[in-house]
Amino acid sequence: MSKPYENLSAVDPEIADLCVAEDRRQASVIRMIASENYASRAVVEATASTFGNKYSEGYPHKWKDGERQWGNGRYYEGQEFTNQLEQLAIERALRLFAPGKESQYHANVQPLSGAPANFAVLNALLEAGESFMGLALGHGGHLTHGHKVNVTAKYFAAHQFPLGSDALMDFDIIAKMAEEVKPKVMIIGTTSYPRSLDYSKFGEIAKSVGALLVADVAHISGLVAHNILPHPLPHADVVTMTTHKMLRGPRGGLIICRKELGEQIDRSVFPALQGGPHMNNVAGIAVALKEALSDDYVRYAKAVVENAKHLAKCMIDRGFELVTGGTDSHMIVADVTKGKDSVRAANGIVMSEDSARAGIVFNKNAVPGDEKPWRPSGIRIGTPASTTVGMGVADMEQIADWLVRIAQSKSDGSTLDAIRREVGEAMTGFRVP
Ligand SMILES: *Cc1c(COP(=O)(O)O)cnc(C)c1O
Repeated sequence: MSKPYENLSAVDPEIADLCVAEDRRQASVIRMIASENYASRAVVEATASTFGNKYSEGYPHKWKDGERQWGNGRYYEGQEFTNQLEQLAIERALRLFAPGKESQYHANVQPLSGAPANFAVLNALLEAGESFMGLALGHGGHLTHGHKVNVTAKYFAAHQFPLGSDALMDFDIIAKMAEEVKPKVMIIGTTSYPRSLDYSKFGEIAKSVGALLVADVAHISGLVAHNILPHPLPHADVVTMTTHKMLRGPRGGLIICRKELGEQIDRSVFPALQGGPHMNNVAGIAVALKEALSDDYVRYAKAVVENAKHLAKCMIDRGFELVTGGTDSHMIVADVTKGKDSVRAANGIVMSEDSARAGIVFNKNAVPGDEKPWRPSGIRIGTPASTTVGMGVADMEQIADWLVRIAQSKSDGSTLDAIRREVGEAMTGFRVP
């Protein structure tokens, strides 16, 4: 499928050719990186709009005695449309994530992405050197939850908790660490944890030590919004997310918080961390939020989980070993060094590289217990993007069969190339946005 690049081709054919090549790649492989998706053409048009030309530091509101009052809170002139745009985005975010309770919450739609959103929240809630707790990266947490290479560990006292021995959240471990560390914030979110999260338990632990609870739902925003997975509210004080994963928006970040924290969070995003918001992205986010409020999206979100569960079942039937034995969400983590001999791979790198050559694109991933982070034993497979193009459970069956042939190919190029042709052929039957 080709997209119109007339102006770009005339000015810069090199970049136009790359855009066309990437469009073709995205239309001809099965994209199974769990954090990726396809934004709709409507989202893409809004994101490419002239709102990108506008400087609009500040907000479409001001804070007075803890209340958000709509009205021009910007530093530069010419904001008659940016104010309307950002107010719509905020209202839609609240309708999606706090329906019926919009007046108790606030939304900040300006974070440039998920990592800056998390840093903004920690910066709002913590002084330098104060302590917080998050899930360790190697156990499925995110870098911004206090990994040592991340700025969150440089400015704050970060404490990382592991999963239990069954690769599941172990509330005894978490409660014990909370008791010892007395964190001011607990940030709970996952990038490679296939199971649902019990936010009421995290909320209880946080409350018992006087910590605020931040839920980072980057991967699962669309699932929690429609209660397909447990909703973090009202247990969490703050919810952070990216807008380009399940939410199918442009790249960006989004923060929902209790109204009382709104002013503090807003100030931390701007002026503490960021300058002018990317208003073109805010436009794209507003469109994605409108789409995510639709019945179509609810059907989509349910299908994402149905596909992941079916793919998990098909993989188990064929001898793959899944971490936690299955999934509740959009994501599967498999330990490819285990399972039936015939489907084993040397490590996650071999399996993910061979699969990519065969046109099924996902990533290598550490699994709990991995001792060599540079040679992860696992792969992470997600269904959000493949479900967007219209794949269903029968297609998951076919993907599982391909995965078996890929594992059994032992990296044989001609086998992988043959599968690549079959995948390309199959992809012509789907609707790529
Ligand atoms: C993706 C992700 C982020 C970071 O988002 P970026 O947009 O890549 O900065 C943060 N937290 C979690 C849990 C994520 O999955």
